[in-house]
Amino acid sequence: MTQRDYYEILGVPRDADADTIKKAYRKLALKFHPDRNKEEGAAEKFKEASEAYAVLSDADKRAAYDRYGHAGVQGGPGGGVQFDMEDILSQFSDIFGGGGGGLFENLFGFGGGRGGSSARRGRSLRVGVQIDFMDVLNGTQKTIQLRRAEHCEDCQGSGAAAGSSRETCPVCRGHGQVHQQQGFFAVRTTCPRCQGEGSLVAKPCSRCRGSGRETREREIRVQIPPGIEDGAQIRLAGEGEPGRQQGPAGDLFVEVNLQENESFHRDGRDLYTEVPIRYTQAVLGDKIRVRTLDGEARMGIPAGTPTGKLFRLKGQGLPKLHGGSRGNLFVRVYVDVPSRLNREQKSLLKKLAEAEKEELRQAEESR
Ligand SMILES: [Zn+2]
Ligand SMILES: [Zn+2]
Repeated sequence: MTQRDYYEILGVPRDADADTIKKAYRKLALKFHPDRNKEEGAAEKFKEASEAYAVLSDADKRAAYDRYGHAGVQGGPGGGVQFDMEDILSQFSDIFGGGGGGLFENLFGFGGGRGGSSARRGRSLRVGVQIDFMDVLNGTQKTIQLRRAEHCEDCQGSGAAAGSSRETCPVCRGHGQVHQQQGFFAVRTTCPRCQGEGSLVAKPCSRCRGSGRETREREIRVQIPPGIEDGAQIRLAGEGEPGRQQGPAGDLFVEVNLQENESFHRDGRDLYTEVPIRYTQAVLGDKIRVRTLDGEARMGIPAGTPTGKLFRLKGQGLPKLHGGSRGNLFVRVYVDVPSRLNREQKSLLKKLAEAEKEELRQAEESR
């Protein structure tokens, strides 16, 4: 079976940004959502769009898809694409509401429940971290303050008081989900009795009142690699919220925001900066000092340099994200016209002006 191109499915160009991709998926998800659209093929379209979005919204998966096509992102159950359903649900909670997990599981045959048990993956979390422009060169370490749900200390997440245990939920018989017929669709939704846990607590733990969770403040260290781009996401596996019923924990996504820098403008690995030079330096040539990320560099200005000329300092740019040589620093020099002159400078410049006038006159006469 030939698979359609993910960009084509979402109707976005190949260089579409994250926001465009998200909007395109939102539109399609609303249009083909099986709860709203009972037309034949709508569910398939919904599934197709969800898979395309799952891949194109994940920077790593998207890069793999761009390079290797469908082969680069497959490997989930049944040869399909494995993706974080919880992540999509949380991004589009307005569309999917609470029962979306069942819908996805129904369509894809995986997702919330692992092998039919009530184990559920914990929620993934997202935080932003701001880093200094200068830290792109060598990378840095940041500490993030985070409030997140964790397993209750007293009951280790079971929700049951010491000495008592959990009992299988009589409504869903431990599955955590119940089937509901909606039109042509058998949709699985979260069990209303146990809220998807699959079990109930006979005697609740007093610390967490039976929820098995408590919110804790955490400090999490994250290593920012050299060469990071603004808006990049770093995934810390398992640092999200804990799963239910032995389900795996969610992930923590750290979005890196780069502070702007006054001196340097970035274009990928290359940097751009501007340096003023004096008229005499432009005319006669000189060696000047240029601020670089590492400190300073000496740069030769040849005689007769026009204003706006771009010089290249090789290897003074930024490193590539996963290693490799550094980019270049491009230095644009411009002639700085002084607004104040001392008496001696003024008199010298007047002499120069006289000489230039004389030169002009002679040139006109000889014409
Ligand atoms: Zn507890
Ligand atoms: Zn139940």
